[in-house]
Amino acid sequence: MARYRGPVCRLCRREGMKLFLKGERCYKPSCPIEKRGPQPPGQHGRNARRAKLIGYGEQLREKQKVKRIYGMLERQFRLYFERAARMKGVTGENLLALLERRLDNTVYRLGFATSRAQARQLVNHGHITVNGRSVNIPSFQVKVGDEISIVEKSRSNIHIQSAFQTASGRGRPGWLEVASVEDMRGRVVALPRREDIGQNINEQLIVELYSK
Ligand code: SF4
Repeated sequence: MARYRGPVCRLCRREGMKLFLKGERCYKPSCPIEKRGPQPPGQHGRNARRAKLIGYGEQLREKQKVKRIYGMLERQFRLYFERAARMKGVTGENLLALLERRLDNTVYRLGFATSRAQARQLVNHGHITVNGRSVNIPSFQVKVGDEISIVEKSRSNIHIQSAFQTASGRGRPGWLEVASVEDMRGRVVALPRREDIGQNINEQLIVELYSK
């Protein structure tokens, strides 16, 4: 299935919550979820009652939500799950930690981009280095001790500067720190823990779905 390219705010309204897909607007009162509440999209959305999803439906929705948050396609997402299941520990938490450790997500979490989509573009277009070497693979898994930075020639890029300023007020998870504001350089100081990742995700539902 192709990556969704329609209006992204619609996806948040479908899930009934903010997925932070659009960048700066997500943090402003003009976010449609802030303005109009989380009713589903469509002509009847305003009046439609959100159906109570149970069992399979609920599991499927949770998987869709997490895929959308991280911009994943089904096949890739499934591979993450299989890898998480082979790891020691709790599969659902492993899955979220693997998604968090993607380079594009790390760039977003460090505040070098206002959305994961923008972060992925920065990686794809060669604006990011890991330990001083250019890495243009969004799925690259970062590890403790890695230093992630914006390549020197891109540091004065107005979009990157503005994203960095916006994201500074957003805070950063405990597993990352900004090593140098001037050099736009961040460091992975720990592996992401469950409490570093959104509490509005019920990863156990995804585990149940794939374990059928
Ligand atoms: Fe979702 Fe951001 Fe659009 Fe709000 S502005 S509905 S959080 S994508």
